[in-house]
Amino acid sequence: MKLFDLTGRVAVVTGGNGGIGLGMALGMAEAGATIVVAGRDAAKNQAAVKQIQGAGAKASAIPVDVLEEESCRALIADTVKAHGRLDILVNNAGMSIRKQPEQYTLAEWHTVMDSNLTSAFLCSHAAYPAMKKGGAGKIINIGSMMSIFGAPFATAYAASKGGMVQMSKAMATAWAKDNIQVNAILPGWIDTALTRRAREQITGLHESVLKRTPAARWGVPDDFAGIAVFLAAAASDFVTGAAITVDGGYSVQG
Ligand code: NDP
Repeated sequence: MKLFDLTGRVAVVTGGNGGIGLGMALGMAEAGATIVVAGRDAAKNQAAVKQIQGAGAKASAIPVDVLEEESCRALIADTVKAHGRLDILVNNAGMSIRKQPEQYTLAEWHTVMDSNLTSAFLCSHAAYPAMKKGGAGKIINIGSMMSIFGAPFATAYAASKGGMVQMSKAMATAWAKDNIQVNAILPGWIDTALTRRAREQITGLHESVLKRTPAARWGVPDDFAGIAVFLAAAASDFVTGAAITVDGGYSVQG
């Protein structure tokens, strides 16, 4: 179906070498996109490329550290050099430092904000000229339940993820004239390396998530294939500035 066809499109996925990023990459690859996997860990990058290629799609890796401006700019420049275009940017790389606010150092604050929010600004800023030149673009920013809620251990993380939603809205208004749609996905609790660490650190987290989630399960990376394809494809051409929860109903449970 043309509405969901990504044949000939080139997609960069930061943090595409595992977890939610890889789930989205595999979905877009199945819809025909060429995937550029962009993470720090070379072994994980290569394993992800192999997995995507194994599914019959085109994929390559470009190592990136999204904490470095030059690395973000090189990622986009090298993608355009290799493929001649950039259609889809997924700003998914992210991390958390779980501490009470009073225990945070300024350096830790900046690490979380720069990994999660500034990186998305930088990659989008670098991607804009190529998307404008191509006459279209799709930017997908990964927020969180912490874009909506607060938690004692999540001061910097919640600030960064709330910022992702507001930045998406602002960029959506700025770049609509260029036919670039900018949207955010807000995942619920998903079983990945990130939350495996959280489950070790936060007693009772596993059970409380199960109890509150109407779907009665943790999410899995595959749950993000469909929403990524939708937001990357023509099907969403009139959807911009939205923040879409993919959470099994977690955020609407009273
Ligand atoms: P993972 O830890 O599996 O993935 C995080 C990804 O980000 C990795 O691929 C990692 O690559 C990459 N990354 C982190 N820092 C950098 C950096 N400085 N430069 C380049 N890449 C970096 O966790 P998830 O899949 O769970 O997380 C993906 C996104 O989803 C994050 O933004 C997270 O905040 C968000 N999210 C996750 C939820 C969940 O329940 N799991 C819920 C809500 C949001 P590498 O290993 O190579 O450094």
